[in-house]
Amino acid sequence: MYQSIKDFVEISNKATLVAVSKTKPIEAIQAMYDLGQRHFGENRVQELLDKYEALPKDIKWHLIGSLQKNKVKYIAPFVHMIHSCDDRELATTIQKEALKNHRIIKILLQVKIADEETKQGYESELLLQELQNGVYKTFPNIEVCGLMGMASFVEDETKVRKEFKSLFDLFELIKKQFYVDSSYFSEISMGMSGDYKIALEEGATMVRIGSALFGKR
Ligand SMILES: *Cc1c(COP(=O)(O)O)cnc(C)c1O
Repeated sequence: MYQSIKDFVEISNKATLVAVSKTKPIEAIQAMYDLGQRHFGENRVQELLDKYEALPKDIKWHLIGSLQKNKVKYIAPFVHMIHSCDDRELATTIQKEALKNHRIIKILLQVKIADEETKQGYESELLLQELQNGVYKTFPNIEVCGLMGMASFVEDETKVRKEFKSLFDLFELIKKQFYVDSSYFSEISMGMSGDYKIALEEGATMVRIGSALFGKR
């Protein structure tokens, strides 16, 4: 653990480092917290709830995995940002639960940038259509903070770079067309342990790093 803490200090100067702590014990998160880390990411609601209960309350918790509508209510009171909104019905539920909790919840719109079948996220055409139709302007308790994407899990650096670049270009287009006056539409969440260096070169403002920080899962 922490073998490359210098690298991570360096990342933190360029982008927001979300330490992905899924499957890792409370003690490992507390140790990272004690070093000054505040943004942590989890992909399962129950695990996130348990960790939220056990750990300092100034941690900013990011939900990074696919989220079922019926579980939004559990995290709505405290979640800092939901990276994985890829459906207007999910957004409608987030709006409802945010309002109930008198909160504004930050979300990212997840876009499918890899051609692998398993990846979550909006097809970019559909996302543009939803934005054109004003879907995401109708949620007073949601701040749309930007885009999130996952590249293919391949060795081919050119392919990975191309996918990140496509997310960056889509971000620029959406910013210009729909959020030019929004100060909070500013985040591009891309890059994991295996590809964060490429992601940073291609304009990531947020990287989600697990195993390179905490060790293998
Ligand atoms: C697990 C996970 C990560 C972190 O993966 P590592 O390869 O361990 O860095 C990032 N993003 C999402 C959506 C994840 O599920």
